[in-house]
Order: sequence, then C-alpha cells, then structure tokens
Amino acid sequence: MLDYFSPAPLGKGEGGSVELQNGKINVTFRSDDFANPAKGKFDPNIITTAIAHEGSHVADAQDYLRTGVSVTDYTTEYKGNFVESVMAEATGYSYYTVKLTTGGAIPTYMSSWTEADKKTLSVVKQKRDEAVKEVVTRPTTKGGLYGYSPNSTTPAFP
Ligand SMILES: [Zn+2]
Repeated sequence: MLDYFSPAPLGKGEGGSVELQNGKINVTFRSDDFANPAKGKFDPNIITTAIAHEGSHVADAQDYLRTGVSVTDYTTEYKGNFVESVMAEATGYSYYTVKLTTGGAIPTYMSSWTEADKKTLSVVKQKRDEAVKEVVTRPTTKGGLYGYSPNSTTPAFP
C-alpha cells in the first residue's frame, strides 16, 4: 500500500505522505516501498500508483489553501485509494492490493471483476467502491491503516 495522508512520521505500510507546512504542500515518498518483491527490484508502476494517490491529497490540500475548507480524513483517503486503484488498472495490473499491517491484504482492483460482467463497468465501480471503503474504514487494531469513519467530521487539513 502506498501512502497515506499522515502528519506523523511514516510508519509500517506507509509509502508516502502529504503535509501542509507554513502554507506549503510537502509530498514525501518512501523509496524503499517501491521495490516489487515479486520482481525483486524497483517497480515504476508502483510509483505511478503512489503519485496518483498523493496527487489526490495534493488536490485536496490545494482546495483547502484556496477555500479554507478541508475535506474529512475519510474523504481524502477514499479519494486517494480510489484513484490509486484506477491507476493500477490503467497501468496493467491484473490485481492490486492494499496490505494490512497484520498481514493479508484487501484487493482494490481485480481484472476478474471486469471479466465477470463485461456488459457493464458499474461492476468494477461498485466493487472498487466497496474495497476502498474497506481499506479506509478497517480498524487499525485489525490491520487497517486508517480506521476512519464515513461519518467523520475530522478535517484532513491543516
Ligand atoms: Zn492517502
């Protein structure tokens, strides 16, 4: 799993962060998270998905700086993980997962979703939506990286 909005130092499973400091947006990536264990080397596709995820947070931070109004912690991570999943599909992954801190993973994209029903893209959209909600809401005590509620009113920024 790659990134996550995190004002704290990056922890296990976190590949990047977006923070506001004195009105400037700082984006950090963890280079050691970009090695694909299956390939045993640096994987440019992982960087692409991470940049998409962090870029979504940058857009939210820019909106905050412009308007003074922030999306919630839940919303920014939903958007980040959603676009990460879309980018994984676009770059040719047959499946893409978000790793849990306790082991295991939540698949946020599987090409079989499309194969299951080629008549409609809404199947992929619905399954991606369900998977990303699971990623963002899963309690940290159960390996989740965020544990955010869809009903959260906690602003993502500042
Ligand atoms: Zn994030």
